[in-house]
Amino acid sequence: MSFSDLLRVAPGTRPDLAAIDPRGTPGFDGDKAAAQARVEELCAELADFQEKLWAEAGQSLLVVLQALDGGGKDGLIRKVVTAFNPQGTRVTAFGVPTEEELRHDFLWRVHAATPGKGRIGVFNRSHYEDVLVVRVKELVPASVWKDRFQRINDFEAHLAANATRIVKLYLHISREEQRDRFVKRLENPTKRWKWSSGDLETRERWADYQAAYTDALERCSTDSAPWFVIPADHKWYRDLAAAEILAETARAMDPKWPEPEEDLSGVVIPD
Ligand code: AMP
Ligand code: MG
Repeated sequence: MSFSDLLRVAPGTRPDLAAIDPRGTPGFDGDKAAAQARVEELCAELADFQEKLWAEAGQSLLVVLQALDGGGKDGLIRKVVTAFNPQGTRVTAFGVPTEEELRHDFLWRVHAATPGKGRIGVFNRSHYEDVLVVRVKELVPASVWKDRFQRINDFEAHLAANATRIVKLYLHISREEQRDRFVKRLENPTKRWKWSSGDLETRERWADYQAAYTDALERCSTDSAPWFVIPADHKWYRDLAAAEILAETARAMDPKWPEPEEDLSGVVIPD
């Protein structure tokens, strides 16, 4: 079975996050070194894919990354997303909306960051924060965030209808692993900069976030924009599973080298 099939949230089903072991390694029985070697192969494949995607300039790839604080989004970007040529790839991090962003609808800033044809877009957090943190912190009335699931599905279907392939990865970590990573953030001077006082607040609301994620995964995993739940306590498995899913997506997108615009047979390069 492919990694995509193993880890996809089947549209219309409600995932039981408590039953998905964050330390699990579905689809892989090798060790860390074997996983890293495989990631290297996959990254080479992804780099080739991107060049073809760029040359073809007919379709786009959008990768949405969501996780709790400490979930490993930044690490995944560093280890796997860097396979893509920066010319042609844009990573957008979505933080607390600015005043101007708040004056617009919640998809405004997101739509502006979607990839054009031939491009890859990666969202480090996304419009899903508008049904996650916004819900948990009660930043808008329930009627407003509840309505957003359908808005999001409509938006993503619209992108898909416009040649954008959407892959949404939820990095699933355990409470214990989050604790270990936070402790490292506090103790290690090279990681301390990552610490934010908000990290503790989200940890306190652990159960509420699990519930909010479960709803988002259930309501918004669709055929045209599926969600994948990646067990992420092992960073090496997280990277492997994400790279496998991206490579499977790349093969399905199957970009083609374009035909030259003119007949090149008579072209002579002068000495
Ligand atoms: P980080 O990704 O750790 O740099 O943190 C970004 C912060 O922005 C997180 O605490 C998010 O919850 C927060 N954030 C992102 N999008 C929204 C949003 N739409 N509304 C409120 N907070 C958000
Ligand atoms: Mg943070």
